Amino acid sequence: MQKESKKRSSVEKYKIKQTISQLKNKTSFNQSTSLVTIYIPPGTQLSDIANLLREEYGTASNIKDKNTGKAVQAAIQSILARLKLLKNTDNGLVLFCGQTNNGMEFYAIEPPEPVGIKQYVCDNIFHTEHLEEMLDEKDSYGLIVIDRGGATFAVVRGNHLEIVHDKDSFVPSKHRQGGQSAQRFERGLELMAQEWYNRMAELANKIFLETHPVKGIIVGGPAMGKDDFINSPRLDYRLKQKIIDTFDVGYTGVQGIKELLEKASTRLKEVRYIEEKELMQRFLTHLAKDDGKVTYGEQEVKEALLAAAADVVLVSEKIDHVELTIACQNCDHEFKEVISSLELIDFEIKLKEKKCPKCGEPRLEITEKIDLVEQLDEMAQNTGARLEIISADHDEGKMLYDAFGGIAAILRYNFRT
Ligand SMILES: [Zn+2]
Repeated sequence: MQKESKKRSSVEKYKIKQTISQLKNKTSFNQSTSLVTIYIPPGTQLSDIANLLREEYGTASNIKDKNTGKAVQAAIQSILARLKLLKNTDNGLVLFCGQTNNGMEFYAIEPPEPVGIKQYVCDNIFHTEHLEEMLDEKDSYGLIVIDRGGATFAVVRGNHLEIVHDKDSFVPSKHRQGGQSAQRFERGLELMAQEWYNRMAELANKIFLETHPVKGIIVGGPAMGKDDFINSPRLDYRLKQKIIDTFDVGYTGVQGIKELLEKASTRLKEVRYIEEKELMQRFLTHLAKDDGKVTYGEQEVKEALLAAAADVVLVSEKIDHVELTIACQNCDHEFKEVISSLELIDFEIKLKEKKCPKCGEPRLEITEKIDLVEQLDEMAQNTGARLEIISADHDEGKMLYDAFGGIAAILRYNFRT
């Protein structure tokens, strides 16, 4: 179930990313500070937001530049009218409203994470920064620094580091006595150390498999300690599978965790993409075998989806096709055009002046917008397939875009035979 919701959010994040890049391209119609951005945290009554807006409406009448004041008031009125139809969500809401070159525009976005700030801003641009932050990588990873002197466990998620366990051991350090008693002491020490690693292995199982489940684990420590830990028979095999890498670090404790995090940063960055790389490898393997269990290209993948034969649909994040249906309001002439979502604003503005190719009247309007990714996602959901947005940050991702047109699918069976 958890996996499913994560997959959904990869598509949802993609959609929000697209909206953000559109919003970032917009400015107010006369460069005045009249574009309104509102961040509403979860649990906030929208009636409270309405009250705040009414206050801001009053304040706007004091703005020296009368045109700006009027534009702000118009935006606020527009939000107030729509606010009644909206509901706050578990993650809060983010609203954008104002008069751009394309007229009065309004966007209500359900953010991918809970909104942490309550903010009302008027500017000549929309403020998308907090939304963008939410889209940053949020997978959590476990960090373990261990030697016979102590163990520290931490979880890193985005930029946040949480120490979940930090304890010294009771294993005495090696000492200086000589002779037979020293040998006995050494043996005792070894047993104590083994016992310590076993106990910490059990604790790690509990923490990283139960209380703080993580995607991967990095283990560090001075010298051999980390190996003794990893080799403990008590360490759950599922946890062993999660170990991404090990590093020598000079310290234990919180200091050691920070050192480990620094050393592992490139490794963690890679991990984010391991899933994507693996999916692409699956695709390429079938392709090389020529077993008919893959296909690529928009039409081919759509056919596979319609035949319910697709298992995983791979779409490059660089794919950005919006198919527009344009209809003349005068003569019913209709035609289609494919553009990128970033061109949409310009296209809409230019369309107002464009003449109908059939009757010559400038009354063309967009009657339908189909986003290719949304369309593929819907088709995938209807047939139990899943859609994966593949970044272009690794070789396989670049290959998906350059060599396979950005759209490919791994099939359940060869549906053409
Ligand atoms: Zn016409």
